[in-house]
Amino acid sequence: MFDQADIDALRTRDVSPGRLLIGGAWKDARGGETLDSISPIDGRILTTIADATEADVDDAVAAARAAFADRRWSGQAPAARKKILLRWADLIEANALDLTVLGVRDNGTEIAMAAKAEVGSAVNTIRWYAEAIDKIYGEIAPTADAALGLIHREPVGVIGAIVPWNFPLMIGTWKLAPTLAAGNSVVLKPAETASLTLLRISELALEAGLPEGVLNVVTGRGAGCGQALSMSMDVDALVFTGSGATGRRLLEASAKSNLKRVYLELGGKSPNIVFDDVGDIGEAAKVSAAGIFRNSGQVCVAGSRLLVQRGVADDFVAALSEAAARMRVGDPLDLATQSGAVNSEPQLTQILDFVAGAEREGARVTLGGSRIMQDTGGYYMAPTVIADVAPEHRLFRDEVFGPVLAVTTFEGEDEAVRLANATDYGLAAGVWTQNLGRAHRMIRAVQAGVVHVNTYGGPDITVPLGGVKQSGNGHDKSLHAFDKYVDLKTAWIKL
Ligand code: NAD
Repeated sequence: MFDQADIDALRTRDVSPGRLLIGGAWKDARGGETLDSISPIDGRILTTIADATEADVDDAVAAARAAFADRRWSGQAPAARKKILLRWADLIEANALDLTVLGVRDNGTEIAMAAKAEVGSAVNTIRWYAEAIDKIYGEIAPTADAALGLIHREPVGVIGAIVPWNFPLMIGTWKLAPTLAAGNSVVLKPAETASLTLLRISELALEAGLPEGVLNVVTGRGAGCGQALSMSMDVDALVFTGSGATGRRLLEASAKSNLKRVYLELGGKSPNIVFDDVGDIGEAAKVSAAGIFRNSGQVCVAGSRLLVQRGVADDFVAALSEAAARMRVGDPLDLATQSGAVNSEPQLTQILDFVAGAEREGARVTLGGSRIMQDTGGYYMAPTVIADVAPEHRLFRDEVFGPVLAVTTFEGEDEAVRLANATDYGLAAGVWTQNLGRAHRMIRAVQAGVVHVNTYGGPDITVPLGGVKQSGNGHDKSLHAFDKYVDLKTAWIKL
């Protein structure tokens, strides 16, 4: 972990404007358009980023295609690609403090979390896929003697990667590391409000020896350069993390362009289900509070719906509210802060609208519910608990992506399952019980990509993350991530 004094020394350092990385060169957007990067810490302009035009995106895709076509990267032995990727991870690690502070100033995540979940996770992810790539073999099919069936694994080609503003390095490298390890070329589109660290690690990738044109970065508006990337006729696959609304647009864009494959990691409204045999209520409540309120609730798998069995509901909600009230919300650059800033003013407004809507529908705010620390100019929200949330309420079904917990009580296991599955999402869930049989029944019954038992959050790179229902398709993390970045090619040989 870093020293507070070292962090403070970087608090106000000037940040150079973000430019586009195309074919190994840093460029301004055609016409010189830029967007302001506003720090959620104080609402001030941190720097600018280039707002790429459609022509810039075309250039980036062309550079990626050229790099793929001449095999300057895919043609290297996996062990050689591994070496460069490991060097990249080392460089990121060597710049950990600078990168972490820059990221926190850009997107507002509390630094204690960002240190682990951003730079720490990015380094680990890149090393993990780098180490994997020279240990994956092709296959020989169990054919009759007269023929030999070989199954080759080949890179897909040019991958467009569009990522969100929460955990840009973690989610960005979940895409970049397996994509690059497998030999693809990439055009990366970071979020408008969290581009700076991804630009910086792309610079480090060049320094590590990644050939020019293999990794290209276009920054700017989603509806501008993001859409241009999705409509490109020369992108083979799009990998995306973000909202369902954007995910739909990407599917439409694929249908209207070249039928590129589209892999979506979308939002959630994840149930955290507490049974009356929960065991240690204090510990479960503390972990559950962190599971919704860290990073101001801007976590895709956040346990945003507390489903609690009637018998323990009062005690559990009281313990959770006490833990939430004790959480230190505030300056994201303070190591003691447990929940930092909301990413942007529009996001904060949306969260407050959800709270007002829940009250109109008859739910009760029992903790928080309002903006705090407005005098800083930044975007902060108190941890908020809302009781009496019914399945027909919007707060029960829709993702807030903020520090807002919806509480609903249930009587028995069947009702818990019914409530858990009563949304269009299926990203994550939590189950708290001392009954092993019940835990396994719930794992099977709850529709979600990941079910935590007697904990919430924390699965590492060894296991896949992906949603069911409207939370997406495909998986990030683990060896299964390669499925998106590798094509199977059959060779059928007469003997
Ligand atoms: P968003 O969909 O608004 O933006 C995500 C990215 O898409 C950004 O880079 C944005 O510029 C781009 N974009 C926006 N409109 C576009 C368009 N028309 N065409 C192409 N690109 C476009 O999402 P967000 O608000 O940045 O992120 C929050 C969402 O991400 C939440 O729903 C959250 O649950 C989800 N998320 C999911 C996971 C997961 O692993 N499933 C992880 C983190 C976040």
